[in-house]
Amino acid sequence: MAVTRRQFMKVSAASLAASSVGALGFVGAGDVLAAGVRPFKLERATETRNACPYCAVACGVLIYSLGDKSKNAKSSIIHVEGDPDHPVNRGTLCARGAASLGYIHSANRLKYPMHRKPGSDKFERVSWDFALDRIVKLMKEDRDKNFIAKNRDGVTVNRWLSTGFFGGSSLSNEAGYLTYKFVRATGILGFEDQARI
Ligand code: SF4
Repeated sequence: MAVTRRQFMKVSAASLAASSVGALGFVGAGDVLAAGVRPFKLERATETRNACPYCAVACGVLIYSLGDKSKNAKSSIIHVEGDPDHPVNRGTLCARGAASLGYIHSANRLKYPMHRKPGSDKFERVSWDFALDRIVKLMKEDRDKNFIAKNRDGVTVNRWLSTGFFGGSSLSNEAGYLTYKFVRATGILGFEDQARI
């Protein structure tokens, strides 16, 4: 029979309580005590696997959320812990990763593209279409203006030095590979990424 992690935790807690009291000679008291053991706090939560985005290690995390869409209750993340099956961290997290619930719910967290118009003193929310069109337009303008096909000795170099690109540790191998290919194909040399695993 396959036993899930949370079923194991629940059974273990109840068994420990029952056997301890039973060992002291209080026959029957163990059952009463086991019945009063609180259910494992994550038993009803939805478990989602992901990677911590904070640094290049990219530790595996388990994210637990509560909320039942069928009852119109808003889903919310209630707990984050290290993924014991992840080959990088084997269930461990550093202090930053262990505190990730804080930045998930932070009021300062950036959740969508923001744009500051020329001359404005504030950022305003914009659509992804607007942000992507604007980025592409500015990149093209800058590349057309600053692309270096040959150096002063006439050697082909195909460099674009006036724009840089930044990747992220949450990208999969495939997304990282495509990002690298795209960036190098444009001639960009300034490419940084916090993931070096
Ligand atoms: S848990 Fe710590 S070490 Fe692991 S990816 Fe996050 S910040 Fe890096």
